[in-house]
Amino acid sequence: MPDTALARAFSTRLRRWFRRHGRDLPWRRTRDPYRILVSELMLQQTQVARVVPRYEAWLERWPTARALADAPVADVIAAWNGLGYNRRAVNLHAAARILADEGIPTDLEGLRRLPGVGPYTAAAVACFALGQDVIPVDVNVRRVLDRAAAVAAVTPEPGQAYDLTQALFDLGATVCLARVPRCGACPLAAEGCPSRGRTYAPTRAQGRFEGSNRQRRGALLRAAAAGPVQLDDGNRAVAVALERDGLVAVVDDTATLPGR
Ligand code: SF4
Repeated sequence: MPDTALARAFSTRLRRWFRRHGRDLPWRRTRDPYRILVSELMLQQTQVARVVPRYEAWLERWPTARALADAPVADVIAAWNGLGYNRRAVNLHAAARILADEGIPTDLEGLRRLPGVGPYTAAAVACFALGQDVIPVDVNVRRVLDRAAAVAAVTPEPGQAYDLTQALFDLGATVCLARVPRCGACPLAAEGCPSRGRTYAPTRAQGRFEGSNRQRRGALLRAAAAGPVQLDDGNRAVAVALERDGLVAVVDDTATLPGR
């Protein structure tokens, strides 16, 4: 079968499967660029199940880019607490100011100039908010496409990028799992996926969180959200690194959230 026909068959099967099995996620009910950007920045390093309640609470508090842009950055950092990689909060606040003042950039290059937005996030906003025919390829999407040898499928037909991408996300997250894919439940098995039935060796385990620099950064930020933190030899280096990222201000051996 020529590549284009294969890609079309994959795409049709995937989109049909998605209509029946796709997950109902709150950011799939909007095309608002700000709301899509919030979801994408939250999802960059945090699992879907943890993001859902935080995303909903965030939009209740700051429903528009203008509302977030007008909020003190210290409140934004404090509200991000627990999602990890807190630099994302500062980036989101800065991006909201640009969206509120200038509107959403309409091309990938412009989107990539937003703080915290790399090639993947730019493609996601272009696809999900602006309806453009680009496929954002994350680790799940890449895995499915590699296994199914369906690289041609990343060129969607006009108007199909959104559904195709969401289908690939969900297939990668729930069926084509990293180690033991559930090929019996996969719409691509019947389409002749060359990897069906295979299992895969475990990938490198993520480093321990306990005692890590990430944990120390999170603990200091939580403390700073509650009030000024006195620095000593045990936490000064962490505070300086956080200050470099714009997450705290250090004055006279005391760390506070910026502007507090
Ligand atoms: S058939 Fe199996 S390996 Fe192929 S895409 Fe589906 S779940 Fe993944």
